[in-house]
Amino acid sequence: MTEVIHIEKKNVKFLQKVVELSGEEVTMCEQCGICTTSCPMAEEMDVSPAGIMRAVQIGDESVVESKAIWFCASCFTCTVRCPRGIDLAKVTEALRQLTLRKNVDHIDLDEVKKESLPAIALVSALRKFTG
Ligand code: SF4
Ligand code: SF4
Repeated sequence: MTEVIHIEKKNVKFLQKVVELSGEEVTMCEQCGICTTSCPMAEEMDVSPAGIMRAVQIGDESVVESKAIWFCASCFTCTVRCPRGIDLAKVTEALRQLTLRKNVDHIDLDEVKKESLPAIALVSALRKFTG
């Protein structure tokens, strides 16, 4: 049976924005938790992958402030295992974009020990954490 989710009107815009940015049907998530149990980064996250999906479904904007969306390594394990075919990595990317598109970086380059990082890690970090 499909669950009916009642969302406050003021939070619908947030849900719509994430759906638009990610291209994913977030409302299709059935909260099975497979993404959470599959995620190699879940233990480091303050909100589980399934919790991220739930927060977006109910329009809870506070998920943008979570550490979890930055810990997502875009490994696509959850994506290939989701029974609803949802690409959760695209959802976390959309949530990161909500910050980065305001030109707010999630990394302080002055704090990064650039010489101790492989070049590819530095490039990846710049692409993921800067607007
Ligand atoms: S695996 Fe898919 S359907 Fe299940 S909780 Fe995660 S995103 Fe939702
Ligand atoms: S894509 Fe992100 S949320 Fe999904 S399993 Fe990988 S690290 Fe976890």
